[in-house]
Amino acid sequence: MAKKNLAIIGYGGQGGWHAQMAQSSDVVELKGVYDILPERNALAESRGILAYPDLGALLSDPSVDIVTVATPNDTHYEIVLKALKAGKNVICEKPVEMQYDRVLEMIRTAKENGVCFTVHQNRRWDVDFLAMKRILREGMIGAPLHIESRVHGSRGIPSDWRGTKAHGGGMILDWGVHLIDQILQLIDSEIDSVFCDVTHYTNKEVDDGFRLNIYFKNGVTAFVEVGTFNFIAMPRFYLQCEKGTSMIRDWRECAKVVRYKYWHENDVMPVQTAAGITKTMAPRDEITTDIFEVERPVADVHDFYRNYVRAVDGLEPQLVTHEQMLRVMKVMLSAFRSAETHQVVSFREDLSCF
Ligand code: NAD
Repeated sequence: MAKKNLAIIGYGGQGGWHAQMAQSSDVVELKGVYDILPERNALAESRGILAYPDLGALLSDPSVDIVTVATPNDTHYEIVLKALKAGKNVICEKPVEMQYDRVLEMIRTAKENGVCFTVHQNRRWDVDFLAMKRILREGMIGAPLHIESRVHGSRGIPSDWRGTKAHGGGMILDWGVHLIDQILQLIDSEIDSVFCDVTHYTNKEVDDGFRLNIYFKNGVTAFVEVGTFNFIAMPRFYLQCEKGTSMIRDWRECAKVVRYKYWHENDVMPVQTAAGITKTMAPRDEITTDIFEVERPVADVHDFYRNYVRAVDGLEPQLVTHEQMLRVMKVMLSAFRSAETHQVVSFREDLSCF
């Protein structure tokens, strides 16, 4: 199958990543880029990449099949709408937008123009997430009860547009959008409600971290935490299921699993704690549990573009659907509302409005 021509709008950190992906892709060909800053266009040219003189030139190039938008979050709306109206298939970087109605408008415009529109949820190819997915799908430790997903850094928010509200900064919109998407892929249930706290340890304007509880209708609970002021990181994933527990300490490591064989133990040896002994908190022995590691899954993030190109050709459904895009957006907006009001916010699965 012939490769599709891809043009990238915004040649910054993530635009550069997309350009590299395209240059090593078996389904797309990098046609060119456009950045609002002349020095970024000059950099692209110095790397042998065509830089369009303006957005109109890129969008009116009939050879461009797909446009990837990798500009700051507040600029997505206008650029995506222009690209869709120009008849281009559009991949928008996450988060698509900060306003729900605008995402609905983008989806409507894509449908009206008969083109494919999706959001770049590349973290569906993270091996730590895929390990959790496998443990749940194969029922290695039974049905889920509670899951915790965290990323912890210690450098605050990057000192660019991400630190400002006007540009759609903050960690809910930056990392939360990925971690929420992953959780919604893992837990197969409608959402009942959410509760969220945000932190402002290093930035007063936008959240530099958050702690989000998602309560699902099937009784499963999820806790999603992003921190940028954590000099000791907590585990990446922690999963409790009906037959055991799994944990991934760090995305570089395998998932550890402890599955219990027998609920009852005959002789529990008490352990000494600071000022007393306990049987309740004594570790399980190996007679009553199986302890093993789950091999790290193999993943190829090029599959994002592979799927998208096949979706453009009508050969398979796009992996990141409009419904998923809207649902993640709704959880983020509910999280903001909860953080503002310090209340649990009920979740309505009706995606036609927020
Ligand atoms: P960045 O600041 O490094 O780059 C943004 C680029 O866009 C800059 O070069 C800037 O000059 C350019 N730009 C700004 N306004 C423009 C406009 N109107 N037209 C054309 N160019 C314009 O930011 P970044 O880290 O590359 O982030 C860009 C987007 O990618 C954001 O939406 C961000 O959330 C997303 N992102 C996604 C991931 C991921 O893993 N999916 C990772 C990083 C960033």
